[in-house]
Amino acid sequence: MIETIKNLKRVYQYGKEYRKNLIIFTISSIVFILINTVVPIIGANQLVYLSKNIYFELLKASIIILIIEIVAEINRVILRRNTQIFFRGTTKNIQLKAAKEILKIKLEDIDKRTSGTFIQRLGSDADEMSKVFTRGMQYLTNILTDIGVFIAVFFINKIIFLFYLIGSLILTIIHLYKVKNVNEKDKAYRKQREKTSGLSSELVRGIRDIKMLNAKDSFINEIEKNIDSLTTSQFNMRNCEINYNCAKGITAAIINFLLVILLIYLLSNSYITISIALIAYNYRTRVLSNLIDHIGNLLTELKNFNLSSNRVFSIIDNEEFKKETFGDRHINEIKGSFEFKDVHFSYEKQEVLKGINFKIEKNETVAFVGKSGSGKTTIFALLCKLYNINSGNILIDGIDIKELDENSIRDNITIISQNPYIFNMSIKDNLKLVKEGLTDEEMIKACKMAYLHEFIESLPEKYDTIVGEGGVTLSGGQRQRLAIARAFVQNTKIILFDEATSALDNKTQKYIQKAINNMKDKYTILIIAHRLSTIINSDRIMVIDDGKIIASGTHKQLLEENKNYRDLYENEY
Ligand code: ADP
Repeated sequence: MIETIKNLKRVYQYGKEYRKNLIIFTISSIVFILINTVVPIIGANQLVYLSKNIYFELLKASIIILIIEIVAEINRVILRRNTQIFFRGTTKNIQLKAAKEILKIKLEDIDKRTSGTFIQRLGSDADEMSKVFTRGMQYLTNILTDIGVFIAVFFINKIIFLFYLIGSLILTIIHLYKVKNVNEKDKAYRKQREKTSGLSSELVRGIRDIKMLNAKDSFINEIEKNIDSLTTSQFNMRNCEINYNCAKGITAAIINFLLVILLIYLLSNSYITISIALIAYNYRTRVLSNLIDHIGNLLTELKNFNLSSNRVFSIIDNEEFKKETFGDRHINEIKGSFEFKDVHFSYEKQEVLKGINFKIEKNETVAFVGKSGSGKTTIFALLCKLYNINSGNILIDGIDIKELDENSIRDNITIISQNPYIFNMSIKDNLKLVKEGLTDEEMIKACKMAYLHEFIESLPEKYDTIVGEGGVTLSGGQRQRLAIARAFVQNTKIILFDEATSALDNKTQKYIQKAINNMKDKYTILIIAHRLSTIINSDRIMVIDDGKIIASGTHKQLLEENKNYRDLYENEY
């Protein structure tokens, strides 16, 4: 209960701006309660007038019912409209907040999870959270109506009231058991649902590789296993629900039967009038099965609300998923020098960087070479503070990056990776993403530098062409060139090229190389390249092996002095 109130208060903060709609639908709900309590009383009187041939009174009662029903319908429209506005607005605010917070989560926490973990929470969980105010309010309204009816019965006849009270207590006990048992099974079901939806998103994103690897059968087997587990957990939950519903239905039928016996007894002994018997009978579903169902629905709603809220709040809070931390020192424009001082780092347990030391002056062009898996990309990731180091220091312009705020680091450094992510937007929007207010001239200049302009101009929609999810409609080389253009647009002082030209043909690579060469001495440039021919003009080359820098110098020096480098170079030719 305390948890529910805490969550309700937090969710309300996201819907606060729609307070007006919440107030309107609360008033509408009260009107709804009044109408539903009064109508059965008038209905019972109608039957009495009919049986006694009092037609004028019957007509009057019918006109009152007609007016009430028209009001009820108008009230329903007001209720639904305001409910929708409040619901959609609150969901939007929750989703936006969750999306912002996901982007702050540490990469090591993201690496361990499937995309389903986040997709589910951003979508259906956020929906579930705001529904508590709309659907929950609807159930609450029903419950209050049922209680209104209960109170009416109390004033009509104490014996019937007592009977109803005992009847509903029995049904409530059955229902509480149901909620408790279904709850446990629902948790397991949701966990499995998250896993399955993650796998489905991998199926779609990895469809090309699945086809090329001819791994359709094994992938389908994996999906089947997951869906089977999902079905089993869903069955467990539903079966539990069905069994309890059956027990409840039979109990309610018995109580109904006993009610009729009770009414016969009271009528035959003239303890009640026919009109009271009819009112009591009219109220029976509301008081017996409805009240329990409505309480049950509200409890289920609150249960789902709590589960969803906890899952979404665990993204927003810094508990299940740890957030990136930054310092508060801000530098607008960095000069572009940086230093690694005895940096040790491990992703999990195994140490990947084992005491890295180097200093790079501003406007230097430095290349990193070494075997695959030796730690080159990791050095780039650490420089952008995508991960936190275990020990040592990384300094930008002499300042420890632990002290710098997020913008000082990420507004000043760009990584162009081997497999850059291109967003499912137009080419223009992909470029605008890194610089708001980008002019057409700037955009075209960047694309010309990345040797991409001619290709874009050849497309029917030119810069407005949508490139598909992950840039699927572009070739590997075009994706890389678009990423390079994106970096040119971003125009940061430090640029890190991580195998950024590996998918380009020789001719295009030469052009890009020229563009990079033109940037030399104006920017600090770091390059990771397999093809050593592309980096021989660098001011310095560092050879990395097994997480350590084993040599450093110009191409000429290394070729003469370092066997590892010579081997790498000779293997290329
Ligand atoms: P390189 O760029 O030299 O090929 P990396 O820096 O990418 O090497 O990788 C160094 C080591 O770290 C490799 O053994 C790799 O398996 C491991 N590694 C890289 N990224 C991750 C990650 N996100 N989580 C766990 N291990 C990783």
